[in-house]
Amino acid sequence: MTNSMLTVTGLAKSYGPMPALAGVDLDVTRGTLLAVLGPSGCGKTTLLRCVAGFERADEGMVAVAGRTVAGNRLHVPPHRRGVAVVPQEGALFPHLSVADNVGYGLDRAARRSGRVEETLELVGLAAYGARMPHQLSGGQQQRVAIARALAPRPALVLLDEPFSALDARLRAELRADVRQALRADGATGVLVTHDQGEALSMADAVAVMDAGLIVQCGAPAAVYRDPATPWIARFVGEAVLLPATVDADVATTPLGRLPLRGSAACGAATVLVRPEQIRLTPSGGAPATVVRQDFHGHDALTTVRLDDGTVLTARMLDEDNGLTAGTRVAITVRGQVRAYAE
Ligand code: ADP
Ligand code: MG
Repeated sequence: MTNSMLTVTGLAKSYGPMPALAGVDLDVTRGTLLAVLGPSGCGKTTLLRCVAGFERADEGMVAVAGRTVAGNRLHVPPHRRGVAVVPQEGALFPHLSVADNVGYGLDRAARRSGRVEETLELVGLAAYGARMPHQLSGGQQQRVAIARALAPRPALVLLDEPFSALDARLRAELRADVRQALRADGATGVLVTHDQGEALSMADAVAVMDAGLIVQCGAPAAVYRDPATPWIARFVGEAVLLPATVDADVATTPLGRLPLRGSAACGAATVLVRPEQIRLTPSGGAPATVVRQDFHGHDALTTVRLDDGTVLTARMLDEDNGLTAGTRVAITVRGQVRAYAE
């Protein structure tokens, strides 16, 4: 038995002159959640539609649980792929109760086995089976959509930006609960999102997508700490990118000499520093002036200008630190930095 629940090889799809998918390779391990993270228009929905079978790829192959479902002129129809899709919103049958929505794809034996109640319990809606969809909040409706997807025990659950219509607090709560429900059910999933926080917090692996291609795939922490390019660095989080000269394992930057993670070619380079690596102290580092502080609740981002004009941001947990505009500070960097040869 293969350990891959989904294998995508060289998948290409064009609607016009511009390819929506330009040769996508992807592998999802059984029982894990992979996030496909990319900006709007990069091809995420097209990828999911080709995997689900709603769309025919021009080239490439899709295999689900070791069985080829698309490729070499083969096109297994969506309902024979063992793949369930949770769309963005509004996917419930309005005239069916919650329990009937969840049981819709089940045969009578499965319905009698208690699977409907089991999946409703998984998504925290055990007492809601008799309700009608319009009696539920948006977040609860998305929970039902996820229970309905899980109920027939599909090989693969595909989620296309399933939380984007919800407000921030609900979204955070639902992310954690849905992750827990998928795990408890042993499900394998692909979550498509343009939200880096969602991808990094929920997924076992993150595939970063840009212009129809997967540009990096790895564990969330690896993608955040070691982005393959400056573009990925900026896309997966706040990034301070500085000009540098690399010599062996040290980069000379406007913030002084910084130790490198991994190796880089000697010469001109761009260096990545995360705002949480930057420390502002009264003295003993690169001199700078505070420009402003942006409060975000859980932390604050302080923007500073070095005396050579370079502007960068530092993440601080305590915004009440007297660092008002004009305060003189000294900058030091914690840990190692990543360099990209010019
Ligand atoms: P995402 O989900 O990442 O926002 P999509 O997969 O929806 O991206 O779209 C990728 C590209 O393909 C976009 O340029 C989009 O305009 C184009 N596209 C998607 N679906 C169609 C379609 N049915 N007809 C024509 N162009 C499409
Ligand atoms: Mg989309």
